[in-house]
Amino acid sequence: MRAKLWVIKIGGNIIDDAEGLGRFLERFANLRGYKILVHGGGKIATRMAADLGIEAKLVEGRRITDEAMLRIVTMVYAGLTNKQIVAELQEKGCNAIGLSGADGNAIRTVKRPVKTVDYGFVGDILPGSVDTDTVATFVNAGFTPVFSAITHDGHGQLLNTNADTIAAALAVALSAQYATSLVYCFEKRGVLRDITDENAIIPEIRAGEFEQLKTSGIIADGMVPKLYNAFEAISKGVDEVCIGHAEDLHLLREQHFGTRLVR
Ligand code: ADP
Repeated sequence: MRAKLWVIKIGGNIIDDAEGLGRFLERFANLRGYKILVHGGGKIATRMAADLGIEAKLVEGRRITDEAMLRIVTMVYAGLTNKQIVAELQEKGCNAIGLSGADGNAIRTVKRPVKTVDYGFVGDILPGSVDTDTVATFVNAGFTPVFSAITHDGHGQLLNTNADTIAAALAVALSAQYATSLVYCFEKRGVLRDITDENAIIPEIRAGEFEQLKTSGIIADGMVPKLYNAFEAISKGVDEVCIGHAEDLHLLREQHFGTRLVR
């Protein structure tokens, strides 16, 4: 039987709230079993860029990672943010080890090809991007890997990568060895039927219901690619995907955590 593995992703909004992040990390540290944390960026990189006089470049509302920005996101996400999370987890008795995709060749990506928009130094994950042996070695040795969303292309180039996609790729790749649950934590209590009503949590969504929720406008914005990623992960071997509030993590075990996505 495959051992249970949690792959948990926290969004940028949680990272920016030091107290909320602390409460999340407490719950994460208390979660039993094998686990991996993937963290998004937050606004520190944007603030640091502004302090240094580097302008954040946006095309059609999407951030462009030019060379100057890549340096900053690497320093902030793979540096300060990652190490701060690791230090707090150590304080809470969780033996975390901070990694980027370059460490142990854990996640190799390819620079996004330029079509209409040049996103700059952004890495796309292709099948086979994750070195499962590297990650499993840490997990089996009792470490809890904490991944920032910085990867490499194997030719010395660091690349900024979407944290949701990294979490999904890790969960899919490791599902051959572990019974994996992928958990997306953010600042709402789950996928909501009405975005203005925190209590309107949809407890379960089946793959076949996704399209309808999208066309009816119930699921919009960042939730669309998140659910797309999630159902793809399920179709590739992940047992389940759960989406909910970072501070509700203690409810995972009793299956009362946010929204559960199933086949
Ligand atoms: P993250 O915080 O993980 O980076 P995103 O910002 O990409 O997440 O996506 C989550 C956002 O999706 C939420 O902040 C919310 O505004 C939006 N959203 C759209 N539809 C829904 C829905 N039905 N339920 C919950 N959130 C939704």
